[in-house]
Amino acid sequence: MSSILESTQSSETGELDAVVIGAGFAGLYQLYQLRKRGFSVRVIEAGAEIGGIWYWNCYPGARVDSHVPLYEYSMEELWRDWNWSERFPAWDEIREYFQHVDERLDLSRDIVFNTRVTAAEFDQERNQWLVSTDDGKVVRTGFVIACTGFAAKHHMPDIEGLEDFEGVCHHTGLWPQEGLDFAGKRVGVIGTGASGVQVVQEASRDAAQLTVFQRTPILALPMNQQKLDAETQQRMKADYPAVFAKRRVTFAGYEFDNNGQSALDVSPSERQAVFEEAWGKGGFYFWLGTYADVLMDEEANLTAYEFWRDKTRQRIKDPELAEKLAPQVPPHPFGVKRPSLEQCYYEAFNQANVSLVDIQESPIEKITATGVKTQDGIHEFDILVLATGFDAVTGGLNKIDFRGTQGATLKEKWADGVRANLGVASAGFPNLMFLYGPQSPSGFCNGPTCAEVQGDWVVECLEYLRDHGHARIEATATAEKTWSDHVDELAGATLFPKAASWYMGANIPGKRQQLLNYPGGLPLYVEKCRESAQNGYAGFEIK
Ligand code: FAD
Repeated sequence: MSSILESTQSSETGELDAVVIGAGFAGLYQLYQLRKRGFSVRVIEAGAEIGGIWYWNCYPGARVDSHVPLYEYSMEELWRDWNWSERFPAWDEIREYFQHVDERLDLSRDIVFNTRVTAAEFDQERNQWLVSTDDGKVVRTGFVIACTGFAAKHHMPDIEGLEDFEGVCHHTGLWPQEGLDFAGKRVGVIGTGASGVQVVQEASRDAAQLTVFQRTPILALPMNQQKLDAETQQRMKADYPAVFAKRRVTFAGYEFDNNGQSALDVSPSERQAVFEEAWGKGGFYFWLGTYADVLMDEEANLTAYEFWRDKTRQRIKDPELAEKLAPQVPPHPFGVKRPSLEQCYYEAFNQANVSLVDIQESPIEKITATGVKTQDGIHEFDILVLATGFDAVTGGLNKIDFRGTQGATLKEKWADGVRANLGVASAGFPNLMFLYGPQSPSGFCNGPTCAEVQGDWVVECLEYLRDHGHARIEATATAEKTWSDHVDELAGATLFPKAASWYMGANIPGKRQQLLNYPGGLPLYVEKCRESAQNGYAGFEIK
């Protein structure tokens, strides 16, 4: 057995203090902060480059839905001389940003690329993990920090004959690095989540024919994309410290919050004005920046849905299509499935080369060598795009065979539902922490904010352990039960359980349905984490 240490340029030998899995926002932040504090640490990354999901999701149109400057680190040495070209940057520019981060922080020398962690076993005698990778190597480490993100396991739909298709077929989350040209091709897109919307917009421009297979209409919001020049950003940067401080104390890690009022306590005209203003700003303002009870109360929610519906239907010429894309009656409450941002999604369906198949009405029967057979007929394609999402939040962690102190793997333990104290650690798995994971703000929180807020807590915890001569920390079973009950209780007060979404684990057949993200907002989450730390990491057993 050879050691993973041989694969990096750093010179230390022997054992590591920490192995970080994943080189996205969270993992890179861990590497930088732990190294700065004198820990020996390596990142193991399955992809060939840093960037996390932006390495894998390089499909046409892939772009962020957090506006500048929210989707970047808050360290001044990183933003001072970095400028974006658009308010909502695309995947290739985000990758350039990661290269900039790498240059400034000198990260790659401690990252092993093209290597997947397959298993990790806890050695109780030495309080260390033995981490195994797909190249047959093993490394010994005190701590494992899993920064595997929410989208490390793409979801392939269970459709008969998928392997028989003789054209080009890709999942958006595993897009070929060399790209794919839609020009003049017959393209089919299965799925209308965030990735589906983005692909449809691109393909509608130059595909000879585009067919979109929709199960549930997405309630997409106008992006209000804008070009950004350096001069404008120079001016904006005066506010960056305040913006980055604010994003740590808002519900979803953005620099704005809802207005604290009920949508039902104001007159219809006042409500309309608030909705209009948020709509005009674009991005997630209409989702997260209007009334406090939109995601909590059905009647309040309906006011937002009706506003969205009426705005959206105006853009679709054919009334039948309008009913399919923006139905009179909500398919589910507004905003409890992640609302994607769009630039021309609805107009695309006015084009002669674009058509919609409602698979609730005309289900997909099978995939053939040349296309997709639905109840109504055969649709032939050169390219088939599977925009079918992810086994979100838990999929990436469950792919790793983590074996803790009780024999069972993490996957086995979580088979009847996830339990994770503060959303970072699970009983029976000492010295394993996960970021952007289950029962943490993750899917409800802007990615870089979460990487820094949760990341700081983990780094400070490891420092505390080292400074106090401890080698082991483990979530207690009682604390993780209390945390899970807390998450369930908060979830019960929201409308999230009313939609079959990936937030609820409902997109994966057989997956236990529960709200996978912390719905109490970042400030409450941070408060709970701080309380635990201030009380000597209450809820954890330390030795
Ligand atoms: P990731 O960026 O997901 O990185 C995880 C890394 O872990 C990956 O590089 C992966 O290869 C690696 N990995 C996983 N398993 C293993 C293993 N076993 N061994 C080795 N390496 C492994 N969030 C927002 O806030 N705003 C947005 O606009 C936004 N847009 C998104 C668009 C798409 C298409 C997707 C999929 C997600 C988007 N997200 C967005 C969520 C996004 O996941 C987070 O913003 C952010 O990427 C989280 O960073 P991370 O480091 O936690 O995880």
